[in-house]
Amino acid sequence: MTTANPLLLTPSRPLPKRVAIIGAGTIGPDIGYYLKSALPELRVTLVDISQEALDRALQRCRDYARKAVTRGKMAEAQAAAVVAGIDGTLDYATLADCDWVIEAATENLALKRRIFAQLEAVLRPDALITSNTSSLPAGRIFAELKHKGRATVTHFFAPAWRNPAVEVIAWSETDPAVVEYLRWLFCVTGKVPLVTSDAVCFMLDRIFDNWCNDAALLLDRATAAEIDSISAEFVHAGPFFVLNLANGNPIITETNTLQAEEEGAHYTPAPVFRSVERWLTVAPGRKVDVSEEIAPGVRDRLLGVLFSQAVDILDRGIGDPADLDLGCRVALGFRKGPLELMRELGEAETRRILDRYAAERPGMPMPQRPLADYQAFWRHVLVDDLREGQQDSDQVVKLITLRRPEAMNALHDELTDEVLAVIRRFEDDPAVAGFVLTGYGNRAFCAGADIGRFPAMLGDAGASTQYARDCSRLLVHLDAMKKPVVAAVNGMALGGGLELVMRCHGIVALRGAMMQFPEITLGIVPGIGAMVVPYRRWPQVAPVFHGMLRRAERLSAAQAFELGVVDALADEVGGLVRAAVARVRALAARPASIADGAVAIAPLTPVEARAASGQPLSREIVGLLERTITAAAAAPSFAAALETGYRAFGDSACTAAAREGIGAFMEGRKPDFSNTP
Ligand code: NAD
Repeated sequence: MTTANPLLLTPSRPLPKRVAIIGAGTIGPDIGYYLKSALPELRVTLVDISQEALDRALQRCRDYARKAVTRGKMAEAQAAAVVAGIDGTLDYATLADCDWVIEAATENLALKRRIFAQLEAVLRPDALITSNTSSLPAGRIFAELKHKGRATVTHFFAPAWRNPAVEVIAWSETDPAVVEYLRWLFCVTGKVPLVTSDAVCFMLDRIFDNWCNDAALLLDRATAAEIDSISAEFVHAGPFFVLNLANGNPIITETNTLQAEEEGAHYTPAPVFRSVERWLTVAPGRKVDVSEEIAPGVRDRLLGVLFSQAVDILDRGIGDPADLDLGCRVALGFRKGPLELMRELGEAETRRILDRYAAERPGMPMPQRPLADYQAFWRHVLVDDLREGQQDSDQVVKLITLRRPEAMNALHDELTDEVLAVIRRFEDDPAVAGFVLTGYGNRAFCAGADIGRFPAMLGDAGASTQYARDCSRLLVHLDAMKKPVVAAVNGMALGGGLELVMRCHGIVALRGAMMQFPEITLGIVPGIGAMVVPYRRWPQVAPVFHGMLRRAERLSAAQAFELGVVDALADEVGGLVRAAVARVRALAARPASIADGAVAIAPLTPVEARAASGQPLSREIVGLLERTITAAAAAPSFAAALETGYRAFGDSACTAAAREGIGAFMEGRKPDFSNTP
């Protein structure tokens, strides 16, 4: 049975021990480097027809590993193991024991078919075969394979060692278990798998290629630099800049010719692609002025192609709406997904843009349904039904997965509201026993709250206090719930993410998970419960919370379990989810409530204003934090204690320390509190 969160799947195969990558050109070595870095036990073999290509590819992997050490992302020994675990060969006959072969050779149908025939002659019949083709449907490239069930397309995006998106194609002849296995495997190795159907160019390249093609068709009205400048409103790098970077003109010609053959002449590539090698354009962050006569038409056209492709992808079931927006952001560098842009512009404006686009580009797809239909989906959460431990009841447990992989699942208003909306939709449903919250992927439960609107509020105590109250709407709802909500902490839980965890009625965690309140290092206090809730729930653990709040000390899940903060530990995600469901069923209709009266806690003996990391802190903020902890513990009710926390957050926003801390965060530097009180 499929699941929305790939980590809930039970893998049908073990992790691969040996993977070969066919084609050591631009993207092949990057795929190999990612896999070897993620799976320490793996042996990766790069295969090419050119020794020179292999030598360059192996050198590239060495360079990546060296950079990772320089930047503190990898230990020396780990980097050495990555380099030692990647080798190269010209000989297909040496690949017989590979569990998985990823083909990333030149984009050419006949060549790819030849390669698969060669591979099938040496590989086990159940070894996975996947292709990194950008455009050729699986049905076509694998048509001559004998064992098609083990083959599909896994489409990576540049730079593949870092870009998290991978399209996994569910085509007619592949074994569905292979698709599920790949989703699981990519997720446990830090990628974001997006399943699509077997359309030409799959999902995201339909967006990218046609965006570039329309940009090129606009060159009769505006220059490449003007078009890239206008597109900077929507993407981090304009279409012509990206085409230069990827030497992509021939690729767009190929892929759009294919789309034109399959789907109509309106996809024909712009002839200019054949005559230009490099575009004269501006780098991201730089702009040329564009006259008001030209700009609106270009902008409409760029939006028109985005919207046209987006509705077509959904109308034809090529991909899922949340995946489409997410993929455009993480794989293609769009600031917002096309569906989010359509929603923000509103129906009338979207309709105007599409009508104009239809007039300029007859034949291009138009919406087949009312525009509102395209907006009905969860954008940042995945929702699954869990049935474990269901023997004596028919009730399911709803698993809500926070999915913002580009921000380690950090909360922003829309994500918070979606979690709340899912809970509201199901909390009165008799078929639902309760909820589990977890984070997408293998690193973070939730890395905190987006800094969002907060910088604009610095210096305004009233607005900041209200902001803290507003940000608490999900948490306050949890306090009043009749059904239990359990946090399944699958990785880091920081700041606002940890405040969410501590408000859940039960907490289970992976043994390696870590919790921290880093706010004090930014010159502010955590205002939505951190100075209140832990002390009322676990007053005996107060000295540990003092250290976490005043010195940003980390608390490992194992320590938290020993202290009674975490109810159960697990070693892997399956066990984590089982433990969370067991906790929901144990809490049943009696979610633990947080003490309402005042609590006695260990006194805050004076400490130096210095974080556990050694970073000097603001004495003023440490003092504010200490006064708030004490006042909140003594407050006569939980609600009054929370208010104390909101107000302290508002007060902290008016300090020089907050201005320095938040300013430093925005500028990507370390804060210096030496000139603040
Ligand atoms: P490339 O031209 O840079 O490299 C292709 C490599 O394949 C070359 O080193 C070539 O010598 C090798 N090769 C050719 N025939 C071979 C054979 N029979 N056996 C082994 N190796 C052989 O191409 P690329 O940009 O790395 O793209 C590879 C594939 O990945 C293409 O299908 C492309 O569409 C797809 N893709 C590329 C990117 C990207 O950013 N480059 C992104 C997504 C998908």
